[in-house]
Amino acid sequence: MSELRHEFSWSVSRRGLADTCLRAYYYQYYLAWRGWGERAEESRALAYRLKNTTRLPMWAGTCLHDSIAHWFERRAAGQSLATAELAAHALLAFRLGYKQSRDEAARWERSPKRFTRLQEHHYAEASVDEPSGRAAAYGKRYVQRIESSARWFCESSELERVRTAEPSTWLALEEHGTIDLFHTPIHAIPDFAFRDEAGVVWIYDWKSGAEKPEHEFQLGLYTLYAEQKWGVAPSEVRCVAAYLEDGRAVQHRYDADALEHVLGAVHASITALRELHFDADAGVGDRERFPTVALGSAACTSCAFRGPCGRAGATIAGS
Ligand code: SF4
Repeated sequence: MSELRHEFSWSVSRRGLADTCLRAYYYQYYLAWRGWGERAEESRALAYRLKNTTRLPMWAGTCLHDSIAHWFERRAAGQSLATAELAAHALLAFRLGYKQSRDEAARWERSPKRFTRLQEHHYAEASVDEPSGRAAAYGKRYVQRIESSARWFCESSELERVRTAEPSTWLALEEHGTIDLFHTPIHAIPDFAFRDEAGVVWIYDWKSGAEKPEHEFQLGLYTLYAEQKWGVAPSEVRCVAAYLEDGRAVQHRYDADALEHVLGAVHASITALRELHFDADAGVGDRERFPTVALGSAACTSCAFRGPCGRAGATIAGS
């Protein structure tokens, strides 16, 4: 097996974090590097542990994604999963993760990738205060999100095409893939893709939260991914952002001009981030090259790294 090396790569989420805060980007992609080793420096080990935390809305999305993947696995095996079973599968994982986060922090400290740890617990946020009832109200919101998402996934006419696609036509199911753009490995994870009878490739992305402008950019990148991975012309690709809780399927198609725009944005981001890149195998670098956001920024209130960054007291308005 070849030795793991720290190399520059790019993804939509990498760009998203860098656009939010370059210091957080440094913690996530540089300081956390090799933080998994038994002899890792404490600053690296801590960054690695924090990199492997999540937040309750993200955890609800992870449980939904995993359960939808399970729905497809069952379908591939010739079985079915009804709405209530899909919701129950996701809710079981959701509640287990919450309890694990609350009760088993020491195990997460030892094995951060294997155990769920919510930033809400880690930073003792008011939203997970149980005696006041706030935790119950906070959790209920995501229980409802999971239930309504499972219903829409299993029952909506908008997703009938997905549910009835024959397994032999599937191209991707939560596939971790890499393509090359501008001599840079580009990571992408299309949630689900298949080829219909007319040869059109449909790519679906499950969205557990609200619609955001960057989703259109992300799906444009998936069109380029489809071109490189499956040899399909962009004109034959349809991308769908499926907003599970809202019950909306938003279709996007990309012509040459639109893809030129996507490529321009990818190139600009790669160029800027390559300027900052250093070999994290050689050392921890100079974090001052990665500026923080202004004190009081909303980004700090939900940042995994606000402890080592010295902003652990940043709180969400109202909490
Ligand atoms: S706490 Fe704020 S400044 Fe520090 S890394 Fe996070 S977002 Fe950036």
